[in-house]
Amino acid sequence: MCQAFFLDSRFFHRLTELDRQIAESVRLAGCVFCGGVLHRGDYPRKPRGGVAFDGQGDPRRHSLCCAEEGCRRRTTPPSVRFLGRKAYLGVVVILVTALQHGLSPRRRQRLADQLDLSPKTFYRWCRWWREDFATSATWRRLSRTLLPALEVKALPGALLGRLLGEDLEARVVALLIHLLPLTTDSPCAGSLRGVHAPQKMG
Ligand SMILES: [Zn+2]
Repeated sequence: MCQAFFLDSRFFHRLTELDRQIAESVRLAGCVFCGGVLHRGDYPRKPRGGVAFDGQGDPRRHSLCCAEEGCRRRTTPPSVRFLGRKAYLGVVVILVTALQHGLSPRRRQRLADQLDLSPKTFYRWCRWWREDFATSATWRRLSRTLLPALEVKALPGALLGRLLGEDLEARVVALLIHLLPLTTDSPCAGSLRGVHAPQKMG
């Protein structure tokens, strides 16, 4: 695969550090249900596709647990690495679906083999952009700023091309940041100050 940056441990460290900052901000804000103190209860996740960037074992999904007796509710902070419950990392979901129009059937097959990706999963991701993402508040907010307008069927490739960033890596990170609200079902407090995507082009 030519997008070598996404196999690079430096790239993964960058995402890991962003996730750490996001989780810390959510932790400091306290439990949204009762205001209680949140404790870390991170757990390892094993992303599929043999993409374990850092060589330090499995990446950990940040998770927070309320310390208050009678509440004890769990909060999952948003993440630039894990896209909800998807078994693959968010960066893989973006790149594979963004590349779909530019790849010959043979190259697409090779990529799918490399990532151990079934056609069913691939089509589920394509549907996720068209149905889940395209009906989200994130997309409604973003799409209002895009001129000329983007068609939903061109997602995510055309959107990636419109985000600011000096290279593909920077634009992928910008898109991952835009996707943050879609990466958790937990209502989260805490500002994501310092974790802003660059402004998009008109
Ligand atoms: Zn609580």
